[in-house]
Amino acid sequence: MRKDLDKIPEYVPGKSAEEIKREYGLKRVIKLASNENPYGCSPKVIEAVRGFSEFHIYPPPDSEELRERISDYVGFESDMIVLSSGMDGVLESVFKMLIDVGDVVAYAIPTFQYYSILSKIYRAKESKLARDSDFRMIEFNENAKLTVICSPNNPTGNVEEESFVREVVESVKGYVFIDEAYAEFTERQLLKFAEYENVIIGRTFSKAFGLANLRVGYGIMHPDLRKAFMKVNTPFPLSTISIRAAIAALDDLEWMRSVVKKIVAERERLFERLSEIAEATRSEANFIFFETPHPSDIVAKELEKRGVIVRSLKNFEGAGDKSLRVTVGKPEENEIFINALGEVLCSL
Ligand code: PMP
Repeated sequence: MRKDLDKIPEYVPGKSAEEIKREYGLKRVIKLASNENPYGCSPKVIEAVRGFSEFHIYPPPDSEELRERISDYVGFESDMIVLSSGMDGVLESVFKMLIDVGDVVAYAIPTFQYYSILSKIYRAKESKLARDSDFRMIEFNENAKLTVICSPNNPTGNVEEESFVREVVESVKGYVFIDEAYAEFTERQLLKFAEYENVIIGRTFSKAFGLANLRVGYGIMHPDLRKAFMKVNTPFPLSTISIRAAIAALDDLEWMRSVVKKIVAERERLFERLSEIAEATRSEANFIFFETPHPSDIVAKELEKRGVIVRSLKNFEGAGDKSLRVTVGKPEENEIFINALGEVLCSL
């Protein structure tokens, strides 16, 4: 094993409903911990993958058809699009292509934990930036080889101001990765920054399109960067089923948009309900960050006993030990969550 392996934390995913059912002997468990889409994917996706049986044949290594379709969706040429296994795969290949040992990787905390894990795997020096009281980024590191901007930010749900992002992009000596996993849930997208030669936009089919299980992520970057990316990306990152599913999802944008509209409306309703009993932060994603007066791991555990899984943010650096994140579910799921949280807060 490499000597610094014990310094690399394992990625901790949200607990599964099955796990909690077993642990507490519950029949009904609601999972609001991984920012999944409660309505699933378009029925046209299910139709498109039905009957597939060529499991013994390798998939296309870099589907031109899917890249063309993504190009139509985002408005940038297909020679600027890369595909990988989830945005996690895109992120990893970006680190692989850019980071030399000791390079500085800058990101503002609290944020998505995988940036820190990758920084450690690729032996970068981490520069952890501050946010203001509304969780907006307020500083950057000019010398960073890679600056990661997550907008909307996981776990706080806020987006970054375009003027600030422009300042970062135009000031840093290195590259800027803009993680827009939750782009479809906000009107304030940062896609236009893909015009800059030092910017990479990361996107995914896991959230708005409801395809988390199929691991389809994509990046938008300058064609020269794409060439470098293709050298380090794993050879067959997407299965044929994933490729077909993503194309079918893009064939039914109307469906995605109607689901997003429902989630956004429900997010606003949930925010109001949650604000009555906890300190909630307004969100432009499909989840809400909130604090209670109690340690977050205890609150999360008490909720689990009542059949509701949310995410304690105790191991999200910079989130404090009283904050949690709840995914916006269907209205009836959110009601069960609110009632359970009310009960938990009364009992502690
Ligand atoms: N970025 C952010 C901010 C995320 O929250 C996630 C999902 N947890 C990802 C990237 C990775 O998404 P995926 O690999 O499912 O595309």
